[in-house]
Amino acid sequence: MPAHRMKNLKRMVSRLREKWLPGCGKSPSAEVLEFGGLTMGTTYGIVLHGLPAGTRIEVLKDAVHGAVHDIDRRMSTHRKDSELSRFNAHRSREPFTVSAGTAEVFRISGRVSEASGGAFDITVGPLVNAWGFGPERFSPVPDDATIAALREKVGWHLVEVRDDNTLVKKHPDLLCDLSAVAKGYGVDKAAEALDQLGADHYLVEVGGELRTKGVNPHGRPWQLAIERPGDGEQQAQVVVGLSGLSLATSGDYRIFRVSDGKRLSHEIDPRSGCPVKDSVASASVIHPSCAWADAYATALMVLGPEEGIAFAEKNRLAAYLIERKATGEFAGRQTKAFGQYSSGG
Ligand code: ADP
Ligand code: MG
Repeated sequence: MPAHRMKNLKRMVSRLREKWLPGCGKSPSAEVLEFGGLTMGTTYGIVLHGLPAGTRIEVLKDAVHGAVHDIDRRMSTHRKDSELSRFNAHRSREPFTVSAGTAEVFRISGRVSEASGGAFDITVGPLVNAWGFGPERFSPVPDDATIAALREKVGWHLVEVRDDNTLVKKHPDLLCDLSAVAKGYGVDKAAEALDQLGADHYLVEVGGELRTKGVNPHGRPWQLAIERPGDGEQQAQVVVGLSGLSLATSGDYRIFRVSDGKRLSHEIDPRSGCPVKDSVASASVIHPSCAWADAYATALMVLGPEEGIAFAEKNRLAAYLIERKATGEFAGRQTKAFGQYSSGG
């Protein structure tokens, strides 16, 4: 695994603990279980308590592990044999059958694309690769002619999802990338696996995307921190208390490239074909479904501070943006719906 990836993983592991801030008052309930592992090029972590009597820990671990790995196997662009990679390699307009889960992620993606006027777009794959954020890294920065040519093969309406779970390409060279939504979907599937085993109180995380149920071990809503951007010590910008909801954050301060002294964000604006301008350092969304929260958070990064907040208000999203000012300082902006969950910021 490349060094920059590994460093990322270490930061992610410490994040779960940092996000699970201790509550005041009550001492934690007796048995708190924490476990995790590696998936989707990042880490996952679970905090659980109040398990039904007789629940075997190994069963819980296997269920979560199975759920997240299943999503990775189906939706990764880094695995040549994933369902998604096979669909990408299928250079034809003939229908391609996928599993119900993959079709569902394509449907969610299409809805968020439509709502955001194409800011969120999973067909952005050729541009993601050209800018060096795909499976093969460190490509040179593309010129205008290359970008213009690639944009011919990008557009969310170029893929059709049919009711029988077949996908149809309207351009044979279409390359889809589910990286902006699959982690959130993996969180949802891990949470559903825990639900089936009778778990009532948990926090699930995959690569910084989170979903909660019940209360934390102190008997309060799970206390989750949205990180203040920066290279140094991790600090909370704002803390939210969630129970039964998900929180997803997209940010340009952890994964980016530098070209001619400028930061290149890994979120691409499909409307220009270029990395988004770095005025939003991070965008966070609270939503019942982590897949939707993940997709919306990416859409807000692309839309930028003004359009992003207007879009989030119009769609009644609980959203929080951290804007990078020209002075280099950071400023938080939140929607009305976000206020009910937050303290600080
Ligand atoms: P993170 O991985 O930091 O949580 P996101 O959820 O925003 O961030 O996902 C970013 C990834 O999604 C990029 O690395 C790229 O693979 C893909 N992507 C880039 N731009 C877009 C876009 N406009 N719409 C959908 N996916 C995108
Ligand atoms: Mg996302």
